[in-house]
Amino acid sequence: SKTSDRLSTFLKSGVYRFEGSHAVFVDPVRVLNRSYTRFRVSPSAYYSRFFESKNTTKEPTISTCSRKRKRKQKKAYTLNERERVADQRHQEVKPLLLKAHEALLAATDLLKCVRNLRSDGCSPEECGDLLLPSLEQSFVELGSVWQAPLYEITLNFPQYSEPTDDGGSPIVQSPEQKVIPMFNNLVINETSRDVETEFLNSKYIMPRKSCFYMSDLGQIHDLVPAESNCGFNFILVDPPWENSSAHQKLKYPTLPNRYFLSLPIRQLTHTGGALLALWVTNREKLRDFVEKELFPSWGVKYMASLYWLKVNADGLLTSELDLFHHRPYECLLVGYCHGGAVDSECLSVFKPIPDNQVFISVPGDYSRKPPIGELLLEYVPGVKPARCIELFAREMIAGWTSWGNEPLHFQESRYFLRT
Ligand code: SAM
Repeated sequence: SKTSDRLSTFLKSGVYRFEGSHAVFVDPVRVLNRSYTRFRVSPSAYYSRFFESKNTTKEPTISTCSRKRKRKQKKAYTLNERERVADQRHQEVKPLLLKAHEALLAATDLLKCVRNLRSDGCSPEECGDLLLPSLEQSFVELGSVWQAPLYEITLNFPQYSEPTDDGGSPIVQSPEQKVIPMFNNLVINETSRDVETEFLNSKYIMPRKSCFYMSDLGQIHDLVPAESNCGFNFILVDPPWENSSAHQKLKYPTLPNRYFLSLPIRQLTHTGGALLALWVTNREKLRDFVEKELFPSWGVKYMASLYWLKVNADGLLTSELDLFHHRPYECLLVGYCHGGAVDSECLSVFKPIPDNQVFISVPGDYSRKPPIGELLLEYVPGVKPARCIELFAREMIAGWTSWGNEPLHFQESRYFLRT
């Protein structure tokens, strides 16, 4: 039947498309796994929250919750101008989020799978050394000290045979080790297999055909290609927006909005144009800034809004839809970047992007976004395979360039299992 086809497609791809709806359900673990050959993403490490388990991270204590609730209640009665606009925006998207959620709740076969997403089991023996507790490196700290240029990463390329394009006998690569600077350096895995790397007694996995550049915002210009026909066709950005949420402040440093105006988006864009996708928060002040200042200064023409709806293992929303400061959804704004001036004639060659698509998933770690890049590939202009870059990345994807001050964060071996 159609339903079982959809389910088997989901089990292979990690993407479930609901019939007659703009919504999809995504299992980030399955989607990410398509980037790896010798490893797979550990479901229990990915799904650190929203599954019943003794390891589940504690939500804020009761006392802070009730304090927050009081403040929220007060605000709900006296909305200021901005909050009214935000509320209006929320009321507009609510029906489509509810419709997407209904589609999930009606897909009973899928819901059964969702409950088991975390226990995609492996025995402790299978996991071997990858499960040993390891000390989390702070790349942000290491990269900012004077010794930063001295830190090196070791890439251990295994022996393997690479098939030739003309179908002749495969080229056998002997094992090779490369030791290169960790920071302010483009670290590349050109091979079609995962590479294990070592840095200060920890191991990190790099997917095939991927690279990272670990630096502060000040060095991002090093990624600007010498020739614009070597630029990127797809630019995904998840900026460290300033946020009043206290626990987020502890997770990574944030930057005032004006810093993002200096991102060299035009210079990173391929001559054939680029699709740009930007994660934003639900704060109205930020939406205003993006629409009136950021997109114009980047040369981005806004096209559509997409929504990420967050559910728990039972398929229920992670918080009440109407909670003012803690919505169970986030927004991704997408637009086209022409590189030079945005001129309407050029934009007409770009594919229209349907507004209001919803993707549903169970969230991973705090502020970790689901890997939706691939769902947008059909709108990416230019030659295939598309040249893709993620800015402020904390993970890597096969075929992508990852930039940020901690792009190896979720590449640590404890997030992986050996296949
Ligand atoms: N998209 C990521 C994910 O799904 O895991 C989350 C990105 S998080 C919102 C923003 C990232 O920007 C953090 O990793 C943070 O350390 C990084 N960041 C903050 N200030 C930075 C700076 N000055 N230069 C480079 N990266 C910075």
